[in-house]
Amino acid sequence: MTERNCPNCGATLVGQTYTCQYCGTDWTPAKAKTYTPPQDSRIARLAFAVSMLSLPAVALSWAGLFAGLTGACIGRYAIKRIRCDPATFVGEGIALAAMIIGTITTSGGLVSLITKLVQA
Ligand SMILES: [Zn+2]
Repeated sequence: MTERNCPNCGATLVGQTYTCQYCGTDWTPAKAKTYTPPQDSRIARLAFAVSMLSLPAVALSWAGLFAGLTGACIGRYAIKRIRCDPATFVGEGIALAAMIIGTITTSGGLVSLITKLVQA
């Protein structure tokens, strides 16, 4: 048994209680605050959104490859940020998906651009 004394009145605190039975002061130690930084997945989600938009864009016009390229670039940037600071940034899976989709639409856009140029 550890004996502790009330820092307020000096009375012995009995057992596991932290509330002084004499003066009524609560000496419960402040729990070690577990700091959880805000989990930021905005970059990853942005990359994913741009990549998803590039899918119909590239289907309509080869120019959609720019959207795909943008999505892939943001996805790449997001993965870099997430790996550098995994406590703050989350969503590596989404960022990776964005990169893959972005790469696919960029390739698709390039193929359609080349086809168009060859046909012209
Ligand atoms: Zn006390």
